[in-house]
Amino acid sequence: MTRIYNFSAGPAALPEPVLRQAAEEMLDWHGVGCGVMEMSHRGKEFTSIVAQAEADLRELLAIPDNYRVLFLQGGATQQFAQIPMNLLAGGSADYLVTGTWSKKAYGEAKHLVGALGGAVRLAGSTETAGFTRLLRTEELDLDPRARYLHLCTNETIHGVELREVSRLPDTGVPLVADMSSHILSRPLDIGRYGLIYAGAQKNIGPSGLVVVIVREDLLGHASPVTPTIMDYRVMAENGSMLNTPPTYAIYIAGLVFRWLKAQGGLAAVEANNIAKSDLLYDFLDASDFYDNRVEHDSRSRMNIPFLLRDDALNDAFLAGAKAAGLTQLKGHKSVGGMRASIYNAMPLAGVQALVDYMRDFSARNG
Ligand code: PLP
Repeated sequence: MTRIYNFSAGPAALPEPVLRQAAEEMLDWHGVGCGVMEMSHRGKEFTSIVAQAEADLRELLAIPDNYRVLFLQGGATQQFAQIPMNLLAGGSADYLVTGTWSKKAYGEAKHLVGALGGAVRLAGSTETAGFTRLLRTEELDLDPRARYLHLCTNETIHGVELREVSRLPDTGVPLVADMSSHILSRPLDIGRYGLIYAGAQKNIGPSGLVVVIVREDLLGHASPVTPTIMDYRVMAENGSMLNTPPTYAIYIAGLVFRWLKAQGGLAAVEANNIAKSDLLYDFLDASDFYDNRVEHDSRSRMNIPFLLRDDALNDAFLAGAKAAGLTQLKGHKSVGGMRASIYNAMPLAGVQALVDYMRDFSARNG
């Protein structure tokens, strides 16, 4: 068996030890005679799996006691709707638009506001700058009375990441952050946020699962039109199990959390992510053949888009990469060019293999 280096933006590569363990336990988990997929979600075996997953996630992210962890379904996209349903409460919400994903979240909130009541405001956008940087303080138009301020802290398609707490708008209103594509890539100050959510398929596990970390005082404000299953308070009261949860996805997420702890926790994971992204950015910056257009202080460590200066070579680049075992490098169609997604599971050796290939390709075609 040969495993390729998979640079997909998501669903993305998972740590190999996690997949091996899941394969070993597929038919018989811990001697109970069946696999996790076949277990009752109410039984003591699965209850222990979910409790351990939550405990490990809390330890990794140092989640304070006044935050609830929810394992929900419908991906991050469902949260675009669930957030205004639960938090708008007839008031106004601010949205920052720094790329495709925050623009979609804003669009969904606007779509729902007629039914929910209240208002949704665009509090800042970098669209005219081509989504190549973070917002600057002077570009923000923040409402100090907003129910919440929504932002996406890592724009997967444009490769723009807000990492430093000092770059977060200091408005005093609850920050609601889409961290789908960089959660668990470094330590976080959870207390700075009201709600964090992340679709699982990059740094957590199988797609469809979405993890929500929400401060307790934000529960219980859902609009009356909110379906019961989408009410955070109801889900929190029912341990994310009002209905049958995505059991297998939660189990894999739990294995990933344990793997992250075995790496030395998130400080060690961050050091590795810095080494990986520096390797690729340093190479790109030294090259005349390739180009990354994101401003330096806004560059993502997880998703690195780049262009070949001669885009007529794109197909040959991708074909050669695939032959070298480096896959899923095609950029999103809205941006073009290439994108290397280098989440936690991508080893430094994978990024080195990519850089070696890119150097060789430019030498042959430059
Ligand atoms: N937010 C971000 C930052 C994403 O990268 C994605 C998708 O990959 C989504 C939201 C949508 O996630 P999902 O497909 O799980 O709904």
